[in-house]
Parts: sequence; C-alpha cells; structure tokens
Amino acid sequence: MSFLESPIQYIKGVGPHRARLLGRLNIKTVKDALFYLPFRYEDRRNLKNIRNLSFGDLETVRGEVVSININELPQQKSRGIEGYYRRQKKLTILEVNISDGTGIIKAKWFNQPFMKRKFKKGQEVIISGIIKTWGNIPEIVNPEYELIDEDSELIHTSRIVPVYRVTEGISARILRGIIYNILTSSLDEIIDPLPEEIRRNYNLPALQESLFNCHFPPADSDISVFNRGVSPYHRRLAFDEIFNLEVGIAVIKKDEVREKGISFNPEGRLVRELLGKLDFELTAAQKKVFNEILEDMKRPYPMNRLIQGDVGCGKTIIALMAILTAVESGYQAAMMAPTEILAEQHYINIHRLIEDLGLRICLLSSSLKDKPLQEIAGGEIDIIVGTHAIIQDNIRFKRLGLVVIDEQHRFGVMQRSALRKKGKNPDVLVMTATPIPRTLAMTVYGDLDYSIIDELPPGRRPVITRVFNRNQKQYIYQKIREEVSKGGQAYVIYPVIEESENHDLKSAITGKEALEKMFPEFRIGLVHGRMKSQEREAVMLAFKKKEIDILVSTTVIEVGVDVPNATLMLIIHAERFGLAQLHQLRGRVGRGRDQSYCLLLAYDPLSEEARRRLEVMVRSNNGFVIAEEDLNIRGPGEFFGTRQSGLPDLKIANIVRDADLIEIARREAFKLVEIDPELDRYPVLKDAVSSFWTGKIEIFKTA
Ligand code: ADP
Ligand code: MG
Repeated sequence: MSFLESPIQYIKGVGPHRARLLGRLNIKTVKDALFYLPFRYEDRRNLKNIRNLSFGDLETVRGEVVSININELPQQKSRGIEGYYRRQKKLTILEVNISDGTGIIKAKWFNQPFMKRKFKKGQEVIISGIIKTWGNIPEIVNPEYELIDEDSELIHTSRIVPVYRVTEGISARILRGIIYNILTSSLDEIIDPLPEEIRRNYNLPALQESLFNCHFPPADSDISVFNRGVSPYHRRLAFDEIFNLEVGIAVIKKDEVREKGISFNPEGRLVRELLGKLDFELTAAQKKVFNEILEDMKRPYPMNRLIQGDVGCGKTIIALMAILTAVESGYQAAMMAPTEILAEQHYINIHRLIEDLGLRICLLSSSLKDKPLQEIAGGEIDIIVGTHAIIQDNIRFKRLGLVVIDEQHRFGVMQRSALRKKGKNPDVLVMTATPIPRTLAMTVYGDLDYSIIDELPPGRRPVITRVFNRNQKQYIYQKIREEVSKGGQAYVIYPVIEESENHDLKSAITGKEALEKMFPEFRIGLVHGRMKSQEREAVMLAFKKKEIDILVSTTVIEVGVDVPNATLMLIIHAERFGLAQLHQLRGRVGRGRDQSYCLLLAYDPLSEEARRRLEVMVRSNNGFVIAEEDLNIRGPGEFFGTRQSGLPDLKIANIVRDADLIEIARREAFKLVEIDPELDRYPVLKDAVSSFWTGKIEIFKTA
C-alpha cells in the first residue's frame, strides 16, 4: 500500500478522534485529503497598518500582544420561544489587544476562555477578519489568527488562504493545518499518472505543483480565478478526473467492440409490413436514426446506441422497427420501461400494431405467472415488454437478441448490463426524452454511441403554456370546460395521492372529488401509483378510448403516455416540480393536430428557482433549451447526477465549467486506449483509472 492510500489517522495532528470526524467529509486516506479542495479562498495578503484599517472590510494586521483581559458578564435573561425565561450562563469575553506602533486593535472571543492560553504578552501575531468598531478602537470578533514563530510557515494569514467545507469538530483552521502537513511531507510520494506528451501538448502544470497550489495559491495569484475554480492548477486536476472517467469508458467500449455480437440479417419484411399499416410517414430524422440502428445491428459486434429525442418525436415506432428486425432474424427482443403504466402502454400499442404479423408478445408485470416464464425460456414468445421485472433472476430467455430500454434516464449502467447478461451479447438500444447537452452526454452516456431525432412529426403545434395563481382558478375551469366540450380530453396532475398532516398540498383524491362537483357533465377518472395494475390499466385504456374526459393523476403518467386526443394539461402545484419533469408532463399533450394547452397552477410562496423554472416552461417548448436552462438553474451536480448513471462521481471537475476539457480528455483517452488497451505502458495511469472506478465497474480484467 502506498503512503497516499494510508489512513488519515496516522498523519501528524489527526489521531483516531479527528479521523472519525474527517470520515464525515469522506476524507479517509492521505490521498482523500490532498484532493479535498477548498471551496473558496480568502485574500489575507495585504498587511495594513492599524491606523489605516477600513471598517467593515476584511483586513489583516500584524502586531504584538500588549494586553490580555478576560471579563465575565452576567447575561441578560431572555424570553425563550415557549414564553418562559430560560436560564443562561455567564458570558465570558476574552480581549487581546494588539499594537503595531500605528495603533491598537482588539481581538475578541466570546465564551472561549481557553483561547487565553494561546497568547502571551509580547507574542507577535497576525490576525485577520472583518473590522468592527467599539468606541474608537477597531476590533475583530473571532479573528483568524496566527502566532509568528521563528521558523513557522504562515498558512492561516498573510496569504491567499484556503477555506474548506468542514464539519463539527473540524474547523477550516484544523483542516488547513492537516493538509499543509501532508503537502509538505509527502508531495514527493505522488507520481504523475498523466502521459507526459498529453501534459505537454495541453500545457498542463505538474500534478504535485497543482495540488499544492490549489490549496495554497502562489502569492501573486488572481484570487478570483481561484475562486471560480479555473486556475491552471484547478484545470489540471479537473482534467485528470475527466481523463480517468473517459479512459475507463474507452476501455469498456473497446471491450464491447472486441466481443463478438450478433449479426442480424433481416430481409426487412416485418418492418415493411409495419410501415404499411401506419397512417403516417416516418420523418426524415426517424429514417436516418433507424438506418443507423440497422447498420449497428448488421455488424457482428454488440450495439450500444442511445436515441435522444424530445418528447413526442416518435421514438417508440423506431424501437419497434428494431424489435421486428431482431425477431425476423430469429431472436427474441425485450423492451424495458421505467413504470408499469408505460410498460402497459407499450404492450398495448405494440400488440395492436403487430397483431396480424403472427408474432407473440407478452407483458411482464410484477405479478408474474409461471406460464409466460416458461414460454419465454422456451423461445415461444418473441417480444417481451416489462418493467425492471425483466432483469429478475428467474427470467430466462431462449435467444435474446435485442434489448430496448425506454426512458434511459431512469436506469443506470448497472441495470443495463444486468439486462445485457440475459442474452449472449445482445444488441442494446436505449431511448431517452431527457435531452442533455453534448458534453454532458459524453460523461453520463459516455459509453454509448448516440443518435438524435431532431425533428417532430409534421403538424405539431407548440403547446401554449401559462402560469396561474390560486386566484385565477376561474379561468382554468373555463378552459377545461371549453376544451372538453370541443371533444378534447384533459389531464389534471397532482403532486400527491392524498392529503396528509405532513404537508398542505392539494391531492389527487380530493382533487377528483372537487372536479366531479364542478363538472357533473364530464366523466372523470383517477390513476395513481398505489392502484393495482389491472385497475390502472383499465382506467388508462378507458382514457385512451375516450370513455373518460378528464384524467386526474399523480406523476405516474409522467413519461411516455400517449393519448393524442388530449389537448389540455393542468399541473397543480407546478412550483413543486422540476423542469425535466414539467417538460415530460407537458409532453403528454400536443401529440395530435389540435392546439394544446398547458396550465401551470403555482401556489405561493414561490422560490426564486421555482419562478425561473416556470418562466422557462412558458418561454420554450424545446427539450434541449429546457435542459440547458435546467443545467444553469440547478448546476451540474444536481442536474443529472452521474450517480444515477452508475458512473463514478466527478468531485473536482464541473461539466459546465470544464466542458472544453471533456472534449480533449475524451479524444486523448480514446486515442491512448486504441494504441494500448491494457495501459501496459502506463502502469501509474492504470492504477489511477482503476481506483477512480472502484466500486462501480472493474475496468481492467487483469489488474
Ligand atoms: P416519444 O418519442 O415521446 O416516445 P412516441 O413514440 O410516443 O413519442 O410518439 C408520439 C406520437 O407520435 C405517437 O402517437 C406516434 O404514433 C406519433 N408519431 C410517431 N412518428 C410519427 C410520424 N412520423 N408522423 C406522425 N405521427 C407520428
Ligand atoms: Mg416514449
């Protein structure tokens, strides 16, 4: 075990107690501490004469302790929230007076009498903090301080000082000291894993230097560059992280290519018959994407392709064409959807379209019967549609050739590979309606090839979207009446199923009752996640068949549900939903030729973010625009947790800020792995990549 991997506990100044506390910050090893970067920096470089201090500013002064006093004040009784008097302790105030010859400044600490021991008269100190005033004498409460000894390096003051996110029991000061210890004692242990030529080509500073400078910036640095995390040293560390990710992805992809897959050889009869039955023409984008899929399927390697396309662009039909291609070549195909409702709907649609093609299809729901299981294992069933029930252990396929995963953003790499293992290197097609910016796709979906359907079927009109408050409900009801009277249908979405003491949100169940009173002439249905799947199926089918006018629902219908006759979507408590979710929900309407509407009912108080989200919804119908805005509002960490994708987390790199690095790292990573797939020439890099991917996927078969 290298020194870098050794437990933090054994570092000078740590010990078992602090090691436990550091564990809360995920600092377990020496290396963890080195890569635990400051979240901001403070400029304490300019020493000022006490005479020249500005009140209210962050200032740093150096001087000599001239006196130390401790005062104890009985503290005033205060009324507690419950209304009776609380007893309080005495207040102790430690005052240390410091002089630099131009004036005197007071350093003050409340209720920390032990601080007294740190100072002696005549001791030279530097203190730093916001200048307040008390009478004529400037003072700093709880200053950052540093004692000047003959040979000690200044780390807390008179420089650009790193500030860390900390936890109870570990102050920024303590952590700064620990990290400084490690940096000065063990920087030599670090071997730079990055191939020298990459480092040189992109002018990246050395790793050791970068680590040191990210913690303790050079004296003449521009602090704002550091605070934005874009110093050359930050970029070097971000590059490494992305490079480790991309090398891993490159190896995974390379392995897949080297694996033998199925080479489908369809004549194309089933697809032709399907197309003949549709009452529409494929769009140019759909044709292009299907051709890309077909090319992949014919090749003797496993396909791993992502189809991105906005809500309503018609991904399902493309998936079905791929499925028929596999089936015609004598294989089974499975389609996995994130919710039962969606699986049910795919099943119904596909069943309807292929009824007379002589194929057998089954729906795998959570209540599994033995018979279809045997038939799947026996190869009598051609097409299997289901939720993640499909990846359960007891499901066996005879000849699984193609796996389609709908709404991929709900599944991660792990589930994808579980499904893939159900066959012998089957082709995999994943579909998502959550458009994501390109650089993000390269990290989150980095291991997939991708195709984009960038066109909606003709005649679609953008959904008109408006925001309303609780006083404008009259307009909403009127609009519902208008749309339904014209023969349209409406969705009314609630954030929760029933009222509860824990929240004061409107609920689907009471919402339905209210709507029934309001619109006795309309038929109103209800679906939610706690219903039995048969009941839910029946309601969805009735809505589809127009036996229900208004469907009250929770977000179970968020993805994929397709009822083109629905023209109105009302979302109650729209302020509670995220942008991606709102866009998905809105995607349930605007699927036919009639003008559709999305009404967002928002309750006060609106947070700033909620207000911006609603604004974006009103402004745009374009999933890509909305995704970019979402990224801006939420920041990359939240936006699309790589957590969800099953890939390792990025801690230092920021996919928005460091987008240019992603392109470079990816290119270089793929180039390197192409030449040296096992990284035999780069053992240190190989270690770094393996350790980056630890707990996710084993990248190298031979470590
Ligand atoms: P999504 O991409 O959101 O999954 P769907 O596959 O559910 O979209 O398709 C949305 C609707 O558009 C469906 O009713 C589908 O039949 C219809 N559709 C798909 N392709 C076309 C097309 N080329 N022209 C007209 N309608 C289409
Ligand atoms: Mg869909």
